[in-house]
Amino acid sequence: MRFGGRVEYGPGRSGRAVHRWMPDKTVVGIPYDFPIAGYGNNTVNNLRLWTAKATEEFDLRFFSGGDYLRAYEQKALSENITKVLYPDDRIEEGRELRFRQQYFFVSCSLQDIVRRFKVGHDDFSKFPDKVAIQLNDTHPAIAVAELMRLLLDAEEMEWDAAWDVTTRTFGYTNHTLMPEALERWPVRMFEEHLPRHLQIIYEINRRFLRQVANRFPNDVERLARMSLVEEGAEKRVRMAHLSVVGSHSVNGVSQVHTGLLTQRLLRDFHEVSPEKFNNKTNGITPRRWLLKANPGLAALVTERIGDGWVKDLAQLERLLPLADDDGFKARLREVKRANKQRLAELVAEECSLHVDPDSLFDVQVKRIHEYKRQLLNVLHILHRYTRLKENPAQDAVPRTFILAGKAAPGYAMAKLIIRLINDLAFIVNNDADMHGRLRVVFLSDYRVSLAERIIPAADLSEQTSAAGTEASGTGNMKFALNGALTIGTLDGANIEIREAVGAENFFLFGHTVEELHDLRRSGYNPWDCYHRSPDVRRIMDYFQGHFLNLEQPGLYRPVWESLLDHGDPWFVLADFHSYLECQEAVDRAYRDPERWTRMSLANIANMGRFSSDRTILEYARDIWHVTPCPIELPAPESN
Ligand SMILES: *Cc1c(COP(=O)(O)O)cnc(C)c1O
Repeated sequence: MRFGGRVEYGPGRSGRAVHRWMPDKTVVGIPYDFPIAGYGNNTVNNLRLWTAKATEEFDLRFFSGGDYLRAYEQKALSENITKVLYPDDRIEEGRELRFRQQYFFVSCSLQDIVRRFKVGHDDFSKFPDKVAIQLNDTHPAIAVAELMRLLLDAEEMEWDAAWDVTTRTFGYTNHTLMPEALERWPVRMFEEHLPRHLQIIYEINRRFLRQVANRFPNDVERLARMSLVEEGAEKRVRMAHLSVVGSHSVNGVSQVHTGLLTQRLLRDFHEVSPEKFNNKTNGITPRRWLLKANPGLAALVTERIGDGWVKDLAQLERLLPLADDDGFKARLREVKRANKQRLAELVAEECSLHVDPDSLFDVQVKRIHEYKRQLLNVLHILHRYTRLKENPAQDAVPRTFILAGKAAPGYAMAKLIIRLINDLAFIVNNDADMHGRLRVVFLSDYRVSLAERIIPAADLSEQTSAAGTEASGTGNMKFALNGALTIGTLDGANIEIREAVGAENFFLFGHTVEELHDLRRSGYNPWDCYHRSPDVRRIMDYFQGHFLNLEQPGLYRPVWESLLDHGDPWFVLADFHSYLECQEAVDRAYRDPERWTRMSLANIANMGRFSSDRTILEYARDIWHVTPCPIELPAPESN
């Protein structure tokens, strides 16, 4: 893999002039092959991963001069490229190594793909028939310029032929609508590390803008909006635009997300090439998220409808008639109770805290981000706590709030929210008035293995993102498949889950995308919520004083400022009342176990369409144009 240096122009093998990149650094990519075993299909696929290795162990010149640290420095700098996966929680932060890492992984994979194609083929016009590359978000978007470079400079193809091969090879999946999360790399970084790619991107842009101008003469603003290069104090390359222009397919990951992509974020591009755009609603694998994570439920389902659901999740619909089977519903409750008991044991180990498996397990586990609105959950807990303090005799449904989630290292507010949840847990769990009524748990190090323990034990799934902010969500699907009921907004895949399971089996709250849009335009002022509602006032005032943390008064002032002084950008207070009312409806439903179990069963039985098998089949059919390989299964053993 090459980095830096300069570009020369001169005769190539064919005699025609070509560009030659003269890098000033090279790094070696070492492949590591990781087997991916299929489920009962006699097939193992290969995932090829890469690590960076320095071309030289150390610089002998520095070593001979006695400067041992310097001697190892170049090696360390090269190998840092793959030392950590730079964490991304869609927020601008620490940069340069990540840029080089993206190029490194992309270049390793593309050079390998081209090498393998050339083993059996020499006609690159056939390349897109043999290779499909799906850009999973913009992190690998530089691949568009890298494939062009390989075709132009190494294979010495003409521009038009190379561009045709490139656009027929790539598809792009968008994962976020938030403009501040779209990657835009400074031109300065390209100049320093990838000078040839910058030339290619400028040429792609020049030709693309010419086409746009031909279609919309005299629309200079449109050209500025659509350009791959953003002008300003610092010129930047818009990686999402490069991905769209360089691909034959662009998709969002839920119906509402794809709709917003075409109407808002990528509207100009949709106007120019509507045929590129399509939706692929996300899914989850039933093997991990039911069969492995919830063996009790999996066994109960198989007992009643056989094990066909493992490979064909739509078969879960055959559970629907069991809604009137009291024996089956009692078994469903037993399975949930056992899962809650097992999670209670984990909580006891991890937090030295007793939680009651007969209380309602109210769960919010996901990365911490303001748009996901863990703060709504916090405000609700504070509201319950306050009401119980005022009226200790109140007949409330006992609830255990379970939260988990990581924050990006540079995201101060997300870290403050984690601190807040922990301070709140300390207050609630050490208050005798809350005993048997309210518990708050924060589990650290949220990861897939922990999710597999938590999700099967959930009664209630918190999916509270502001409408129009969560592209899809997949946590929402994992919970519903495991029989939790959702309290959620009309956002991402929540909308499709609600349609599938039935509105009567889903706790809906909050403003819609359109309503938030109107609220924003008419001048939303969160102070109105504060002045109008005694509930909001009472709870918000906790953030002013030192109640939440006696040692550090003012610690949570930034929460107050964000929700009031800075205009509440994620509409937490705008949706708070609707959320509280909806939580009352949750309590009422939970008091009737028979009704709750019916709702839970309706969720499980209607989750078939959220299998990732359905999603992958759609990508294969609509974007990659590949059909399933016939596989030979070993003959069944006779005995
Ligand atoms: C499923 C999953 C996610 C995604 O959850 P969302 O609620 O969709 O944001 C994040 N982290 C882990 C560990 C998961 O298993």
